[in-house]
Amino acid sequence: MVNVEEIRAYLNGILPELGMNKQRELSRLIYEISKRDGHAPSVILPAEKNLTFERAKKILLQKRYPFSFSAAPKNAFYLPKLDFDPAQRADLQEKAFSPKYIYIEESVKESGLARRAKEMFPDASFYSWDGKQKVGSEHFSRRIETLLIHQEKYDFLKPCPCSEGNAGCGYNLINLGFGCRFECEYCFLQQYQNLHAVLLPANVQDFLEKIDQAPFRKGPFDRVRIGSGEFTDSLVFDELTQYSHDLVPFFKNRPHLQFEFKTKSTCIDGLLKEGGAENVVVSWSVNAPQFIEQVEHFTPSLTQRLAAAKQVAEAGYRIGFHFDPVVPFDGWKEAYLTAAEQIAASVPREKVAWISVGLLRFSRELKKVVENRFPENWILDGEFLLEFDGKMRYPEKLRQEAYEFFVPHLQKLFPQTVVYVCMEKPHICSCSL
Ligand code: SF4
Repeated sequence: MVNVEEIRAYLNGILPELGMNKQRELSRLIYEISKRDGHAPSVILPAEKNLTFERAKKILLQKRYPFSFSAAPKNAFYLPKLDFDPAQRADLQEKAFSPKYIYIEESVKESGLARRAKEMFPDASFYSWDGKQKVGSEHFSRRIETLLIHQEKYDFLKPCPCSEGNAGCGYNLINLGFGCRFECEYCFLQQYQNLHAVLLPANVQDFLEKIDQAPFRKGPFDRVRIGSGEFTDSLVFDELTQYSHDLVPFFKNRPHLQFEFKTKSTCIDGLLKEGGAENVVVSWSVNAPQFIEQVEHFTPSLTQRLAAAKQVAEAGYRIGFHFDPVVPFDGWKEAYLTAAEQIAASVPREKVAWISVGLLRFSRELKKVVENRFPENWILDGEFLLEFDGKMRYPEKLRQEAYEFFVPHLQKLFPQTVVYVCMEKPHICSCSL
């Protein structure tokens, strides 16, 4: 673990006159290089006679961003203050989902979801929730201790908020739940979710009622696509929520629409009981096995996800895969190609409706959350630049090369499948669809 105080002391020794902002930028750069390469500050920035801030910064930027230093605009390097709080560290001891505190809104206390929660978690403490009471933990890692069952009143259906300037795929979302029990190091919920609890609506029928009148965007697909996995994993709580028992029959009766469950889980019992539907696509987020093991904590392995996908396909659903996020680590091409070949060998290919590919991107706020929760992470060691949509992304040239390498391979392996690039500038997406 890199010692931040050591970096600051070293800088004070070789550049004693630095103001706060300059000290912040140089410390940040030394920290990131040291974390990536394992070198001491004196190796990264050796003391030299007449060293200035400008020269030191140039040396460090070149070392930190060897691929993009000369071409990137100078304001693309994001160098926030080093700010660590050991109390924020993620708890990586896996625990079963067994909430200790369950809050139920008065209006849904007789719902099937409330009843099942009482049956499944008899040892929990139950409270009536009035919509104002503070619930949840101070600590994000303890979010699965609290379950909040509520009646959603406003947020039913919306177009996917693909960020500004991106190509968009005409996706539509129903937000059936908030929070997840997995611990993916890159998960945006770590920064986005300020209620540290699992939030599940009991009034799924109200969501479905909105669908028949909705003016949908279709995008480049043959039918309107609607999905539920934006703020949670669509299936991870399905044993409790049983949303699959409402969603599958509803969409089965509406063949002009298609619905997508997006998951990393193997919670497919509800889907299997419903018996399959051609216009319901169950898609798995997939990655190279070593990435899953090191970065997507508590999630099923690739092999387990594919075994579930095969069962679901055989039951009559179509399936999909999202290679997202792709991270170009050492040996990534071989690792991702092997994963793609494993998928092709494990599931009926003609059942694969779509495969998306998206390189890792994240908000600048998430960067500090990830380095606090996962100080030993390696996903932030890549060259991320502040980009056109305010997100941190790999340099455009690297992204383009990665998509141009991987997408054609997927198209070849899955000739009947729509392969598309997710959340990218239109010209970068041109290698897909
Ligand atoms: S599965 Fe999805 S929602 Fe759950 S932690 Fe991972 S990225 Fe977040």
